[in-house]
Amino acid sequence: MLLALASAVLAASVSWATPTLAVAYSHLPCRWPSSSVKFYANTSGAHLTAFTSGASAWTGATAATLTRVTSYSSAQFYGVAAYDGNTGYDGQTTWTCNLLLQFSTVNVVLNRTYMDSYGATEKKVIAMHELGHAMGLDHSTASGYPVMASSAGNSYNHGTTTLKSDGITSTNTRY
Ligand SMILES: [Zn+2]
Repeated sequence: MLLALASAVLAASVSWATPTLAVAYSHLPCRWPSSSVKFYANTSGAHLTAFTSGASAWTGATAATLTRVTSYSSAQFYGVAAYDGNTGYDGQTTWTCNLLLQFSTVNVVLNRTYMDSYGATEKKVIAMHELGHAMGLDHSTASGYPVMASSAGNSYNHGTTTLKSDGITSTNTRY
């Protein structure tokens, strides 16, 4: 039996955050054992679209393949959209990993308290950020407001709607 080695809550802050360092991406301690990862999204409508379009963005631009499956039992991690209240976070990803530094559990929550008022593209960007965490990426300090900056909403407000080189490189060096 593998013991949980580490866990954390990662959140996309709504608040303003200005990157101040020139370097770039960072990784969480854990990753998936292979580049093909399956998740189940327990939501519907616009938030399901956010999950699927966000996953497609990673799959289309990186060496990883992030696939939404419709069977809970065949998924490696889970996503949901819920009213989390005025937490200051558009979304949160919680994770645990085992002694092999592979993910044991990953759960993504999109906070409908804020997300419900966002358009489809902003929803996608927030989902992309959380799914990036779910793949093992930590926040990026790269310039140019990347998706994995500490506040994906802030990056969106600066015009970011797609992955940039930091997120692509970060993923491809992991997988
Ligand atoms: Zn984050």
